[in-house]
Amino acid sequence: MYNLKVVIIGAGIGGLTTGIAMRQAGYQVEIYDRAQELRPAGAGISLWSNGVKVLNRLGLGEKLAAIGGEMNAMEYRSHTDELLSYVDLHPLFEQVGQRPYPVARTDLQTMLLEAFGPEDVHLGRLCTAVEQDEHSATAIFKNGERVSSDLVVGADGIHSAVRAHVVGQVDRRYARYVNWNGLVKADPELCDPNLWVLYVGDSKRASMMPVGGDRFYFFFGAPMVEGTHVEPTHRRDELAKIFQGWPQPVQKLIQALDPEQTNRLEIGDIDPLEHLVKGRIALLGDSAHATTPTLGQGGCQAIEDAEVLTRYLHTTNIGVADALKRYEAARKDRTTELVLKARKRTSTIYGYEPATTEQWYLDLKQEPPEAVVNALAKVILAGPMG
Ligand SMILES: Cc1cc2nc3c(=O)[nH]c(=O)nc-3n(C[C@H](O)[C@H](O)[C@H](O)COP(=O)(O)OP(=O)(O)OC[C@H]3O[C@@H](n4cnc5c(N)ncnc54)[C@H](O)[C@@H]3O)c2cc1C
Repeated sequence: MYNLKVVIIGAGIGGLTTGIAMRQAGYQVEIYDRAQELRPAGAGISLWSNGVKVLNRLGLGEKLAAIGGEMNAMEYRSHTDELLSYVDLHPLFEQVGQRPYPVARTDLQTMLLEAFGPEDVHLGRLCTAVEQDEHSATAIFKNGERVSSDLVVGADGIHSAVRAHVVGQVDRRYARYVNWNGLVKADPELCDPNLWVLYVGDSKRASMMPVGGDRFYFFFGAPMVEGTHVEPTHRRDELAKIFQGWPQPVQKLIQALDPEQTNRLEIGDIDPLEHLVKGRIALLGDSAHATTPTLGQGGCQAIEDAEVLTRYLHTTNIGVADALKRYEAARKDRTTELVLKARKRTSTIYGYEPATTEQWYLDLKQEPPEAVVNALAKVILAGPMG
């Protein structure tokens, strides 16, 4: 179909990528976001090769490479600094045809926003409901504004308002752990600048990976009951306590980080949905399949969604609702599988069953690097670009 008008709710990774893809298909696209100013939640993100390939196709490959870190290997170490595994990632790049890029989220957001065109992102617009009839879909905003189009894409994140129209009320499920993340200046005393290092032990983890601009993206994770809150000024102290006795680089990282700029998030996901679309309304990204970040695939899946949704709209001509059904058929199993896989991995990493977590630490030492590479390649190659 040609000449569609598309309204996208949400200017996150999913909404902006969809906007860029649909523009390139020749559609008239407007994006609406509730935020007064776009600020990404979180400091960094690892875009695996499946997400990168879609951005390459959209013409953003060189820009992405310029903001991406050069992650050539990954290493697991124990909280007593024992090397558990080392995986050279070059065989992965060869198998899938594209390296992944860890990036700072603000850099990614800026790149996507510039590619879409900030003038067509309408800020300060809280979408409260959507409606549709045979001929159009309408987004309704808190300020009373109504915008009609051929379709509405709900890329409005884990607490999506658009989702209620498609599948009714869905609650976020707490994943029983807290994630702290931020950026620090790259320093070889913290981590080799070509390496993604993960320290694991005691059902917790601490990690660093390179991003562009000579910085490391770091994150920590530790099991915690729901509802805890720690003021930014106290976050260094909190981490120092939780990771007391962990190896020197972790201690140095805690000293190097800026507590005021360290995000602290309670992590959650949603159960796989029965439907991702209804008539002329489509869910995309976290609104459709929010996942725990233990596979690093949430953002990549939003990017894949953007590609597949646009492709079906562009290459079929029965009608919008039909194209959306095809999108759902192509995306439901893929995203369900990854949400459930990430959930399982979360339970292993964060000690839901302590014996399983202990066994995983032992398994890390036994697992051949080829098996790790093959598992990563399998997820990547199952994406829409192969
Ligand atoms: C700690 C952490 C680490 C992660 N690491 C990775 C990783 O390494 N790799 C990876 O691929 N993924 C990762 N993810 C997942 C990734 O961040 C998300 O999957 C991705 O950001 C989802 O993008 P989105 O556009 O769907 O939603 P969001 O980024 O949540 O964007 C939604 C947008 O919609 C707007 N909005 C919400 N409600 C409304 C409304 N009612 N009206 C108007 N606007 C609205 C919001 O303001 C926001 O701008 C991680 C997630 C977390 C929490």
